[in-house]
Amino acid sequence: MGGTFDPIHNGHLVAASEVQARFDLDEVIFVPTGQPWQKTGRSVSRAEDRYLMTVIATASNPVFSVSRVDIDRGGETYTVDTLRDLHREYPEDQLFFITGADALEQILTWHNADELFTYAHFIGVTRPGYRLNDHHLPSGKVSLVEVTAMAISSTACRERVEHNEPIWYLVPDGVVRYVDKRRLYRKPE
Ligand code: ATP
Ligand code: MG
Repeated sequence: MGGTFDPIHNGHLVAASEVQARFDLDEVIFVPTGQPWQKTGRSVSRAEDRYLMTVIATASNPVFSVSRVDIDRGGETYTVDTLRDLHREYPEDQLFFITGADALEQILTWHNADELFTYAHFIGVTRPGYRLNDHHLPSGKVSLVEVTAMAISSTACRERVEHNEPIWYLVPDGVVRYVDKRRLYRKPE
């Protein structure tokens, strides 16, 4: 499951858990994206902070793990590179790429979508306020999964921290603590 995870929140975790159970996956690997070269609108937190929050959030689940491939490659992340690297690391395994319906729609408009499908089966999870209709989806290569609606976004979490509002129970406890400890998402003093 790829994402910026700035921060990772319970919507991501519920979606991953749902897909893991539905597809009986051996493992769900969370892959935080690399650091964008030029910030598009806002600055993304340091890759290391996003990576550590993802580790903290997933540590207690024996079938969740975190990969550094996109972070260590550096720069903007392209899904095709992510999948190529994971395929190299797990050559015997069947890969599924889990993503939100919004991201899936973008991925499918890429020119090289066909190459992506050679590496993985794509699973789009529904997210509140965003529904994808499936009549443009290539059959057999993409599945849509309805997950329990959790109206949480990283953007909303960052804004809450900036306005001194709590993020308890929107993100795992350890992530609340980490955000506080590193003073992430606060206005510079
Ligand atoms: P931001 O608000 O910064 O865009 P985000 O909440 O969308 O952050 P990302 O790291 O961009 O988080 O998300 C990774 C993937 O998880 C995306 O494909 C996104 O659609 C999906 N996702 C995010 N929040 C939810 C949610 N509440 N339910 C289901 N899927 C979600
Ligand atoms: Mg997003």
